[in-house]
Amino acid sequence: MTRKSGKTSSSSHIRNIGIIAHIDAGKTTTTERILFYSGIEHRLGEVDEGTAKMDWMPEEQERGITITSAATTVDWTVSRSSAKYHINNIDTPGHVDFTAEVERSLRVLDGAIGVFCGVGGVEAQSETVWRQADRYRVPRIAFVNKLDRVGADFYRVLDSMRSRLGANPVALQIPWGAEKGFRGAIDLIEMRAVTFDENTFGATVSTEEMPEAVEDRAREWREKLLEGVAEFDDGLLSSYLEGGQVAADDVRRAIRKGTLALAISPVLCGSALRNKGVQPLLDAVCDFLPAPEDIRFVTGHQTKTGKDVEVPLTDSGHTLALVFKSASDPHGDLSYVRIYSGTLAAGAQVLNVEKDVRERVQKIFLMHANERRQLKEARAGDIVAVVGLKKSTTGDSLADPRHPIRLEPPRFPNTVISMAIEPRSIADRDRLIDALEKMARDDPTFRWKSDRETGQLVVSGMGELHLEVIKNLLLREFKVDARVGKPRVAYRQTIRSAQEGESIFERQIGGKQHFARVRVRIEPDPDAEVPVVKNEVTKVDVPLEFHPPLIEGVTGAVESGGDLGFPIIKIRVTIVEAEFRQNEGSPIAFTTAGAEAFARALEKEEPRILEPVMRFEVQVPDEYYGGVVNDFNQRRAIVQETDLQGDLRILRGTVPLAEVFGYTTILRSLTQGRGTISLEPESYAPVPVEVEERFRL
Ligand code: GDP
Ligand code: MG
Repeated sequence: MTRKSGKTSSSSHIRNIGIIAHIDAGKTTTTERILFYSGIEHRLGEVDEGTAKMDWMPEEQERGITITSAATTVDWTVSRSSAKYHINNIDTPGHVDFTAEVERSLRVLDGAIGVFCGVGGVEAQSETVWRQADRYRVPRIAFVNKLDRVGADFYRVLDSMRSRLGANPVALQIPWGAEKGFRGAIDLIEMRAVTFDENTFGATVSTEEMPEAVEDRAREWREKLLEGVAEFDDGLLSSYLEGGQVAADDVRRAIRKGTLALAISPVLCGSALRNKGVQPLLDAVCDFLPAPEDIRFVTGHQTKTGKDVEVPLTDSGHTLALVFKSASDPHGDLSYVRIYSGTLAAGAQVLNVEKDVRERVQKIFLMHANERRQLKEARAGDIVAVVGLKKSTTGDSLADPRHPIRLEPPRFPNTVISMAIEPRSIADRDRLIDALEKMARDDPTFRWKSDRETGQLVVSGMGELHLEVIKNLLLREFKVDARVGKPRVAYRQTIRSAQEGESIFERQIGGKQHFARVRVRIEPDPDAEVPVVKNEVTKVDVPLEFHPPLIEGVTGAVESGGDLGFPIIKIRVTIVEAEFRQNEGSPIAFTTAGAEAFARALEKEEPRILEPVMRFEVQVPDEYYGGVVNDFNQRRAIVQETDLQGDLRILRGTVPLAEVFGYTTILRSLTQGRGTISLEPESYAPVPVEVEERFRL
């Protein structure tokens, strides 16, 4: 089943996967090996030398981190069976500030590799992404990396996968040798040792007899493997219970079934940097992770009938695809698309269901980091980049115009940090706004707005690193000359009680009398992440043509925020009543009265200010523990859990973002550079009274 150019291969031999992990676990290093061993790259790229192909933005190469997820396609032949596969891999960043990249990738992937550091084990961000993958029900295999490092312990990582992730890890390999003496893996299915030749950068893989020194341990772990997977395959179960020979293929089939059912996570071991363990990992991707056809169907919303339907994942269905990423590109902006049903051909017209506009697919590309191969057609199961979509953004569904179905878009968190940007000239302001629009289109966790009163431009994002990257993009890529303020906490506000407000618009404009009266009710609603606006006015009260301007007036006022300039959340707004007079109704009257009625209701309230509260995980050597805890106690932190791992103390809990601004530097000085912190938005909570007072001055 080889690929012909211009076409993609059969769905059973496609794997759409992502690599998810904590920052620095070795995702990019592993991906570079995948490119090298699959023959796509003829030289090994290294993160540390800034030559990793996957990290191709200048910003990424300088910092040695991955920011945008790049889709890469590789062909892989499983050497045992000579079966050829087509693996679409999405490299995702580990830093929480770029969590949206992970979220949207998980929405479209069928399976994932979780990479864990052999020393650090299950770190904060690995936990977050693992749980995200739980939520999207993505089957996973785990790769315990960095086993060449001092202090690495494969078995401890298995334990922490169990205790911290609630996972059911099943080791398919155990390491042969440890730390400096790490040599390769013991394959528990075949019961042979696997080694990787240093002279070919690990490209030559050999298997050999089980070394005597590890034989007992290998038997013990093979037993655990069989015990862990026997229940998933009847053939295996009976031969296992009878104590007879078990066939390797039966074991593999059972592992596959258990993995697809999300009942187990197979675990492999290696050291990507030392070129060990990556080829068996690729074999495992093909052997155990789902093909698109294994997913069988997706649930979508049929817009014509208003019903939820199950769409089978097959080429022969009507076209259905999801845009999960967009990126500016000099050759025409790219939309990354996952196709769920039917085919997508160059030149075809599709319906953007979300926006109800038709779009033309001009070109289709198979992406390899920043290079590409043009296709005539892509099919159900494929992940490709499309040129030609003008209006489509992340989360939009593309469908056959006669069969519109909307797929659930990925969810993105609220921003927690903001900063002001001041262009140096009018011309810069225009260019800046252009750039901000572009960036907001490509990055769903980046927002910007222009302050109603001051005209000041404010951008907001997920964290300090996120805004830093945005700032550099603006100054460097978009070449905008602007002064950038210091990052600040992005506060929100809400209300304490229900209120009503009324406004009457009554005025002569251009010789015509305009009239509208509107009454609005506001109520607290803890579940409303974004404000909900409901219209109870009927067409008997006010002709239908004035409803959109009325709703727009109210919604606009809600969106422009409260008197402190903070966006309002956790609120429900109802337009309870409106009055219309014959010959005196006009859009402007209803828009203005609607906005003012909302403002009047809000005025009756003392605003309650909300601040972002972060979940944190701090790792410090034991000797600094006391100092760090003391410091945290003065920052309104709630420590919920402490843990000892080797000689590292781990603290977990919640803390207001305002208290840990720039904390990395403080932690460094408290621990002589040996402590690390990971922060992640958790919720919005009311600020204490004394903090609230400060805003009223
Ligand atoms: P990512 O943030 O998950 O993409 O991690 P990277 O691939 O950028 O790796 C982070 C750091 O760990 C880099 O300095 C790598 O050279 C190093 N690294 C990656 N894999 C290994 C490994 O197997 N052993 C050792 N000792 N270092 C590794
Ligand atoms: Mg990386």
